Amino acid sequence: MTESEIFAVMIDGQVVAQDQARISVFDRGFLYGDSIYEVMRTYDGKIFALREHIDRLFRSAEQVFIDIPVSKDRLSQEILHAASLLELPNLLIRVHITRGIGPYGLDPTGARQPTRVMIVVPLLVPSEDQYRDGIAAALFQSQRTTDNTSAAGAKVANYLVSLLALRQAHAVGAKEAIIVDGRGRVLEGASSNVFIVRSGVIRTPPVNEGILSGITRSYLLKAAAHEGLELRETSLTQTELLDADEVFVSSTTREVLPVTRIDDRTIGTGKVGPITRAIHRAFRAIGGLPAILPGNRPNSTQ
Ligand code: PMP
Repeated sequence: MTESEIFAVMIDGQVVAQDQARISVFDRGFLYGDSIYEVMRTYDGKIFALREHIDRLFRSAEQVFIDIPVSKDRLSQEILHAASLLELPNLLIRVHITRGIGPYGLDPTGARQPTRVMIVVPLLVPSEDQYRDGIAAALFQSQRTTDNTSAAGAKVANYLVSLLALRQAHAVGAKEAIIVDGRGRVLEGASSNVFIVRSGVIRTPPVNEGILSGITRSYLLKAAAHEGLELRETSLTQTELLDADEVFVSSTTREVLPVTRIDDRTIGTGKVGPITRAIHRAFRAIGGLPAILPGNRPNSTQ
């Protein structure tokens, strides 16, 4: 963040000036990463999949035993209000709930007043050429914070593994990291879900492998069914990923982003594949978005 960046903040339901947007050093979100969050976006001023994001936030809260202090409806109203604070068509809205302040120490039981923070910033999306040509990704072998716990798959805000993975990916010129576990299973991206296409069949790891149940991913399951594309939720090995005909990642801010290179391997022909394009188009159609895909604009200069 720099001083010149425009953003809007609400803390516990109150709009707060940019330079007053602070929470206590005793907040457990700061001390322990004891918090959960959502990232949503607007298209032309309208929040995409608001209900699904709120439902997922409440599911994450249950998984880590945080009691969100407001109802889903009240939270929706606050999010809509936060989104109205910046008059730009395309915004990113982060909704963050920490366990708040409790008696000093690790034990969470005394912390009963969660803190809720909303941050709204102008949305940055991948460039047209990334959609047109695909991106490079880098593999990163690791466990994640909540793996094999009851909070597996919750959107907890401790993103250190993803952050280290992305840092390493950027160091080799890649735009996303793909997390592979100790057994060689492909899980998800640093902040995206992963899909492969082989012999016309789309595959993506199942959510019971502890991945985030992506909202975009759930739309893609529907989009595939709608298009008559076969999509299977099955474990994926690193070899299957590298031998795929097509690979793409999905997320709220990137929609469907083709991956044409992983580490030093070219994926398929090295060009964006037809099924990636088809499912992206279908996603836009069922999401009620304009039909033109990024990277495919008639007068694109990039
Ligand atoms: N996996 C991880 C680890 C993520 O951080 C994200 C981004 N929230 C996703 C998947 C994609 O989820 P969504 O489609 O809901 O943005």
